[in-house]
Amino acid sequence: MKYAVVPLLFLSVNPHAGATGERDLRLRADSLARVIVILDTHIDVPDVLREKWEDISKRLPDGEFDYPRAKEGGLKAAFMSVFIDAAEEKNGTANASAEALIDMVGSFSRSWPEKFAPAVTGADVLRIAGEGRIALCMGMENGAPLEGKIANVSHFYDRGIRYITLAHAKDNHLSDSSYDSTRTWHGLSPFGKRVVAEMNRVGMMVDVSHISDDAFYQVMEVSRAPAIASHSSCRFFTPGFERNMSDDMIRLLAKNGGVIQISFGSSFLAGWYRPKELAARNIIEEHLATLRLTRQDSAGKAYERAYLREHPLGYADVTDVVAHIRHVADLVGVDHVGLGSDFDGAGEEMPTGLKDVSAYPNLIYHLLRAGFNEEEITRICGGNLLRVWAQVERVAEEIRSGK
Ligand SMILES: [Zn+2]
Repeated sequence: MKYAVVPLLFLSVNPHAGATGERDLRLRADSLARVIVILDTHIDVPDVLREKWEDISKRLPDGEFDYPRAKEGGLKAAFMSVFIDAAEEKNGTANASAEALIDMVGSFSRSWPEKFAPAVTGADVLRIAGEGRIALCMGMENGAPLEGKIANVSHFYDRGIRYITLAHAKDNHLSDSSYDSTRTWHGLSPFGKRVVAEMNRVGMMVDVSHISDDAFYQVMEVSRAPAIASHSSCRFFTPGFERNMSDDMIRLLAKNGGVIQISFGSSFLAGWYRPKELAARNIIEEHLATLRLTRQDSAGKAYERAYLREHPLGYADVTDVVAHIRHVADLVGVDHVGLGSDFDGAGEEMPTGLKDVSAYPNLIYHLLRAGFNEEEITRICGGNLLRVWAQVERVAEEIRSGK
């Protein structure tokens, strides 16, 4: 699929271009982070604030996103995740929860207008970044809030949602989930296929993260526009983990013009992490069972935290993120990879050297060390996603004008 390249995203001239020594590389990384559009497609802070309200305009002692750290990290735009737990489809609360979370994200820009502003187009992102504020976009993680009504796609588009992750941890009424072995639909449901077509028509990005392999391949058949994986990594490094994308899937995603936004959680990055995590979980669950507790009880959660403090699993490293980016770049080219951290959404498993939104300059430093040039880094950090977003809007215009 052909697409136009988004104009260069440098906001000013980088004074350190060309330097190669270790200290110079740091300076180059820091100044690059300041001037390029760093756009992260998956930050889960709304879900954290739903549990416990915090003032994210100020530096927080914990958590992975707040304004001061985002500025330090050079973050220009963040897709705030409107995350709906899989259980909410059955409870009938999904739609109301989505509305409440969208209101909450809107309140960030209203409460702190000098710091945040809402963005619903790539042009908004560039303007807001140029003003020194952080652009807040929205993606809906789980299609459950559509509640079987196709008109809800354009409703949520009008509310500012610019991508929908079709399913989350369980099969829902749109799609099967990679985490659910039920395989209710063997891919997408008939309604899910209509939703993909409607998202194409209104100009919303289809997010293939979390869905089953069958559902992914069906999205590739149905969608007229390129798709995104808002927060997924490469299965090459985590064999058997369906939540990540296989090489074959990445090839097809790229062939259709799409982009995989690499997720930073250690379990997504490092093959050794998940078996270790599952082994620890078994030990914890066996112990809790003797006390007639589960990991969901507050006493169970406290025990799990204490156990993991004493028996730490370890972490992947920022260089693992670079390895995933290199893998995609070697496979399909540097135009089809970006950043979808899952900050505040992946538990306590962010990699060493990339613990929160202040650390993007360190990632850029390691990308430079790995031999990526500044133009490539500009694409990886946000340019690719902006290109796909613009293409999705062009396809919508074509569909609406009957082409
Ligand atoms: Zn997720």
